[in-house]
Amino acid sequence: MDQNHEQINSTKNALEPHVLIFPLPFQGPVNCALKLAELLCLSGIQVTFLNTDHIHRPLLQHTQVLARFNSYPNFKFETVPDGVEHEKPVSGDRFMEVMEAVDRVSKPLFREMMVSGKFSSRSERPVTLMIPDGCFSFAVEIAKETSIPVICFDTVSPCCLWTCYLNLPTLIEAGDVPFKGDDLDQLIASVPGTENVMRRRDLASFCRTDDISNDPVIELIVKEARSVPQADGLIINTFEELDSLVLPHMRKLCPNVYPIGPLHSLHKARLMPKTTTPSPEATFTNSVWKEDRTCLLWLDKHAPKSVLYVSIGSLATMSVHQLLEIWYGVVNSGNPFLWVRRPGSITGEYDESMVPSELLARTKEIGCIVDWAPQEDVLGHPAVGGFLTHSGWNSTIESIVEGVPMICWPYFVDQQVNSRFVEEVWKIGVDMKDTCDRLIVEKAVRDVMDVKRDVFAKSADTWKILAEESISETGSSSRSVARLIDDIKAMSNAKK
Ligand code: UDP
Repeated sequence: MDQNHEQINSTKNALEPHVLIFPLPFQGPVNCALKLAELLCLSGIQVTFLNTDHIHRPLLQHTQVLARFNSYPNFKFETVPDGVEHEKPVSGDRFMEVMEAVDRVSKPLFREMMVSGKFSSRSERPVTLMIPDGCFSFAVEIAKETSIPVICFDTVSPCCLWTCYLNLPTLIEAGDVPFKGDDLDQLIASVPGTENVMRRRDLASFCRTDDISNDPVIELIVKEARSVPQADGLIINTFEELDSLVLPHMRKLCPNVYPIGPLHSLHKARLMPKTTTPSPEATFTNSVWKEDRTCLLWLDKHAPKSVLYVSIGSLATMSVHQLLEIWYGVVNSGNPFLWVRRPGSITGEYDESMVPSELLARTKEIGCIVDWAPQEDVLGHPAVGGFLTHSGWNSTIESIVEGVPMICWPYFVDQQVNSRFVEEVWKIGVDMKDTCDRLIVEKAVRDVMDVKRDVFAKSADTWKILAEESISETGSSSRSVARLIDDIKAMSNAKK
């Protein structure tokens, strides 16, 4: 390349940082990645958003994303096949099926795009920085190979990212994983920062394995533990105070961390002028399921903080037995409830004839059941006083932002860690981990909604205020986003 050409190219790069965002193909990560994309677009950065086919279809079907992002001339969607044949987004029990399909089908195509194809340095629109999900260790490898700067975005909870992802090799070396013996209450001493908090039962679900050498999830996470620290940065959805127990330790391994959460409220604050009342239409849904907004009208009819909201997110499932136990517990607590029953979330044979008539009758009186709710709006509704949740990280942080205490029934991955932090570190709820007996459910709901309501409300309010402060103009997360944008520009310029 002659000197002139080089200069033109470097000037072009200097003017046009071009970021490629590549999220995990599931509801939570795609939702977060779209919010990040929009923040980058607002700052004038060129963004290409790469979705795999099976998640892109329902996203277009149920949202206004195309229309919304059309207003950004610097934004472009791209898709890559993933070989997943399902019409609807798959449940969590098929997580590895999706990951293996991405590895087999999407990875080689992505590699080609970056090395010699449409986003390579030889192309019209070369990518100057990649933001892949932290789980895509192959993307970090490809970034290194092509000398493209890379900043990982991990949308799992930082408390789990630290204890069970980045420290999985430590847990294995220390002999903490796999567990020896069956005492799930034994404390885990090998992870710095959480020695007095984490028991075996609070480790991510994948740590409950007997054979680490033949476990594809363990293999995936160990790869991630090695690749994330090699990236040029790490974006996480939290704020400094919330994860002060783990962030100082994480920074020793990954010095360039950008805590930009709560991302959904930071996004809302930037996108919605403060003077307007947010109308339902103004919400920025990235839902891959059709939202039923009628439940907001149902909530309008209820007294402040009287309703329990129940949802297990986009991936978790429950058996018919678990459904009935939780259902009885909720109904027997006597609180009105709004329950999201995502189609496909109940495993095994199930129809309403299996439900005792007394339960159905009481549900008619005090309950509202929908397929999918506008969750951020639900949690922000004055009638909602508690959240029975699977403890997904997005649900947890959305609840923290609204100051809603939680009853946690974790299903998998980071949820076991999140529910522990909710009860033990943040003190904003009850962890029902590993149990769902109707009496336990009833007691937990009564505690959160009534008996210990004031205690939980006090800490929930404190976190709510800290969350708000973090996204204020001078708050820590706002400063992190500004630094991220500056760094993206600087790293893009530095690209050889
Ligand atoms: N969600 C929603 N409507 C629902 C249930 C969930 O919009 O009826 C959204 C919720 O607001 C959150 C996401 O789906 O942003 C679930 O993410 P989370 O990390 O909590 O759990 P996952 O679905 O990944 O297990």
